[in-house]
Amino acid sequence: MFENVKLLVVGAGFSGSVIAERIANVLNESVLVIDSKLHVGGNSYSETDSASGIECHRYGSHIFHTSSESVWNYIRRFTEFNSYQHKVLTTYQGHVYQMPINLKTVNDYYGLNLKPWEAQEFIRKEAEMAGISEVRNLEEKAISLIGEKLYTAFIRGYTKKQWERDPKELPAEIITRLPVRSNYNANYFQDPYQGIPLDGYGALFRNLLNHPKIEVRLGVNFFEIRDQIPSACTVIYTGMVDQFFDYCHGPLDWRSLRFEWETKDLSDWQGTAVMNYADEEIPYTRIHEFKHYHPERKAVFESDKTVICREYSQTYTPGKEAYYPVNNAENNRKYEKYQAMAKAMPHVILAGRLANYRYWDMDQAINNSLCLFEQIKKDLENGK
Ligand SMILES: Cc1cc2nc3c(=O)[nH]c(=O)nc-3n(C[C@H](O)[C@H](O)[C@H](O)COP(=O)(O)OP(=O)(O)OC[C@H]3O[C@@H](n4cnc5c(N)ncnc54)[C@H](O)[C@@H]3O)c2cc1C
Repeated sequence: MFENVKLLVVGAGFSGSVIAERIANVLNESVLVIDSKLHVGGNSYSETDSASGIECHRYGSHIFHTSSESVWNYIRRFTEFNSYQHKVLTTYQGHVYQMPINLKTVNDYYGLNLKPWEAQEFIRKEAEMAGISEVRNLEEKAISLIGEKLYTAFIRGYTKKQWERDPKELPAEIITRLPVRSNYNANYFQDPYQGIPLDGYGALFRNLLNHPKIEVRLGVNFFEIRDQIPSACTVIYTGMVDQFFDYCHGPLDWRSLRFEWETKDLSDWQGTAVMNYADEEIPYTRIHEFKHYHPERKAVFESDKTVICREYSQTYTPGKEAYYPVNNAENNRKYEKYQAMAKAMPHVILAGRLANYRYWDMDQAINNSLCLFEQIKKDLENGK
């Protein structure tokens, strides 16, 4: 079944699908794409919920945004985007605030009416008042940047839920800066290009992979067919790097998520796509309401049904989905060992977030694959 395969892509997320598309369209070479999931698109996948007609992002909200004109031009060959601009709100002690912290958040929280230049000075004094001279953990770092009150309201509980650890026990390096906007800009992303694929991510991926030279086999786990892959086959692997090497340097840590879905007989549940929950006592970190990503789908948008999804953070254990790498010094050291092993294997190319043990936005994953493709092309041209 795999004996004639010369190019195998493991994983049909953005990283694998972009490389396969380039191989087929640019090189006119045959490529086999396998994925253990029963759909293409990896973690970015969305599909229309048959009962409500709402486009649901199965692995949490995915908003496409980029500053890279080349990535934007590339991806728009496979989809049109709507004009959605992402904004995030957070609920704390029954009040709703804008996120990231901006002038409105500060004024609403303190009951003030500060001007931009006053807000900067105000935050500086709040931070100074905390009197932190030596930063030893995440809590102290955050307080030294924004002061105790804003930290307690907007960072402490959310971070504790995200990591299932007290911020006092987390390394300061997790945050490099905590942007506090001294204006009323409520746009979550600052990139010039942003939107949601008009027909959803599922359709985008079907377009990406729609080429006679691309064969997609779903529900196929690489580790179950590995011994059938010819030794001369080039394997572009986008799965977990530690698993690829049988965890020989030990497993890498990940954070996982759990999603709890609910359909409501209501036109609108929370009035926005994403509502964060900053209180420690509320067990979920955020609620997604997917119809807000497609206001242009008028009939569905105005219908009396809505789909919401509560997101809970949890520790990764085998069998769960790996979402966020835990890039502490120990894990990064392990990862470097795996990376060195991969470099010594001429027929193996590691691509994507799981194999590179990085958090990458979709545009970064696409960009990485476009660059890798250029390398693959050169190698093939040089007969390697
Ligand atoms: C909760 C969450 C929200 C996010 N929101 C955004 C956002 O709003 N905007 C943004 O730009 N980015 C967002 N991202 C990042 C985005 O998900 C990634 O950039 C994207 O998924 C990277 O694609 P990938 O192909 O590298 O990985 P994936 O999408 O994970 O694809 C890897 C594929 O490989 C398959 N695979 C793994 N192992 C095997 C195996 N052994 N055999 C066969 N198949 C295998 C998997 O099933 C998967 O389909 C978010 C990420 C998370 C976790």
